[in-house]
Amino acid sequence: MGYEAFHRRSIEDPEGFWGEQARAIHWHTAPQRILDDSNPPFRKWFVGGQTNLCYNAVDRHHEARGDQLALVAISTETNETRELTYTQLHREVNDFAAVLVALGVGRGDRVVIYMPNMAEAVFAMLACARIGAVHSVVFGGFAAHNLALRIDDATPALLIAADAGSRGGKIIPYKPLIDAACAEAKSPPPKVLIVDRGLAPGYTRVEGRDLDYAALRAQHAGTDVPVTWLESNEPSYLLYTSGTTGKPKGVQRDVGGYAVAMALSMWSIYDIRAGQVMFSTSDVGWAVGHSYNVYGPLIAGATSILYEGLPTTPDPGIWWKICAHYGVRTMFSSPTGIRVLKKQDPKFLAQYDLSQLRYLFLAGEPLDGPTATWISDGLGGTTVIDNYWQTETGWPVLALMPGVELRPVKFGSPGLPTPGFDLRVIDEATGARVPPGTKGVLVIRPPLPPGCMTTVWNDDARFVSSYFSHFSELLYSSLDWAIQDEAGYTFILGRTDDVINVAGHRLGTREIEEAVSSHPAVAEAAVIGVADALKGQVPVVFATLKQTAADAVAQQATAAEMMRTVADQLGAVARPARVYVVNALPKTRSGKLLRRSLQALAEARDPGDLSTLDDPNALEDVRRVLERGA
Ligand code: ATP
Ligand code: MG
Repeated sequence: MGYEAFHRRSIEDPEGFWGEQARAIHWHTAPQRILDDSNPPFRKWFVGGQTNLCYNAVDRHHEARGDQLALVAISTETNETRELTYTQLHREVNDFAAVLVALGVGRGDRVVIYMPNMAEAVFAMLACARIGAVHSVVFGGFAAHNLALRIDDATPALLIAADAGSRGGKIIPYKPLIDAACAEAKSPPPKVLIVDRGLAPGYTRVEGRDLDYAALRAQHAGTDVPVTWLESNEPSYLLYTSGTTGKPKGVQRDVGGYAVAMALSMWSIYDIRAGQVMFSTSDVGWAVGHSYNVYGPLIAGATSILYEGLPTTPDPGIWWKICAHYGVRTMFSSPTGIRVLKKQDPKFLAQYDLSQLRYLFLAGEPLDGPTATWISDGLGGTTVIDNYWQTETGWPVLALMPGVELRPVKFGSPGLPTPGFDLRVIDEATGARVPPGTKGVLVIRPPLPPGCMTTVWNDDARFVSSYFSHFSELLYSSLDWAIQDEAGYTFILGRTDDVINVAGHRLGTREIEEAVSSHPAVAEAAVIGVADALKGQVPVVFATLKQTAADAVAQQATAAEMMRTVADQLGAVARPARVYVVNALPKTRSGKLLRRSLQALAEARDPGDLSTLDDPNALEDVRRVLERGA
């Protein structure tokens, strides 16, 4: 079956299609009904089926392929590599689960996990899944305030944390952050379990609350913890969105639908089957980390590579060295990651034998043409595939599917809809479908396919109001602008709140950014609309350069060229009113541009919720440049 027929069947006969896909996972009790769509926009997949994510990710393969590598955790921060077979992973997860059970954690309890990319983070997630506890991984780079916000929303019975993270060799002790978060939180966790790597020796313990994982593990090692079978629609985990556009939402995922979506996406999109190797450079704290560092590859019986460290340590060849050494077939990263490498010597791309690397998937933000071309040319035989999704969807909405049929790559577009996603591009005002080539809002016709969020944690009303209340028809709004071409390829033009209105012309910031980035001197650009008495709004550019400009005059000249480039490509109306050259752009910890903060600063307003900001210096730099006025 080709791609077209495969996708069409998933839309025309969802129960038939997903009923078949459900056979890829183990069910303790078979589902009685494939889809219950009686209460839209809520829907239930595989009703009455009982299964378990940990059983599907670990036990099944421990029985069938116990000696195969399941997880390789590589850290260039601690200079440690841990290789675990499925049998070893099974042991670790059981030991971890035994500790959780001993601490009284059980089905339905929330467990917040605050750890960097280390093997124990994976053990902890799978141990929760095993006993039916609901994990909520909070990215280890977040500050105390972010952690406190998520603790208060999830009200966990337990917090599992590492003693410290490390970034570029700099140790970041977690204990002071945990103590501050627990002090700030209204419902702090009664127990904190610390996995001590010895990176922050001598931290102070809160008596009766703080526990040492190694000590507890020693008491319980070797215990086999039975799998808790869950009804398909019970919650498996919570994961907060990046907070690019405001207060993060607690995305709730189910069990059976997610397992089936993971199984399907692994072979059909990522072209990975049991025994093959996948390397995702994501952090476990993001949606990509959950789906394609942990659950997807393990449910597929593949080998998953987890990496802690910078892409440039010890040198910018590290990712490719890992690919060559482990025979990685599919790699997953982000445009931001590739742009970091693009600033380095290209020789690092050519040092290793990458003949086994078939695909590089990139997601998370727009993949600009120059970056796509640079990495695609540099890797030679590897196919670079953009894919589009959201924390909410849990797996790609748009991609190419080499496991079914590889349709041609069109740079600038994340491709075609994946199974179960019935996509439309509609007019923002009328809700009517727009013709090919016309810009509109990307929406999904319910029911959302398996794997997508089931609701906002503890807030069904917010689920409906955030996603389903934008149009008269019940449609899931992606809150992203898109355009579809005649062949059905979708292009993402940015977020619906990233549109600027210049003298009545609506311009997508993304399009202007693409134009600015096509200037050879530009490393990265952010475009915002700034209030203007005459035109309503005008485009303003913040850009980083590949090489620091020699002097202010050279910088001015480059800025003028950028303006001209935009005007040439998009017309005079899009010509930026001002171009500011900065050292760094403010981004979320997941690498997304914080345009709303840039805009606030440029309009001399309060930059708003900065809890997910990666590097505060970037914002300071912007402030400085704005004050200087160039
Ligand atoms: P919040 O919803 O809290 O504001 P967020 O939207 O940044 O945060 P994520 O779920 O991590 O949180 O990001 C999803 C968004 O990232 C998409 O809605 C889209 O705007 C952008 N995105 C993801 N992949 C791509 C891609 N391949 N091309 C263009 N944009 C992408
Ligand atoms: Mg979002």
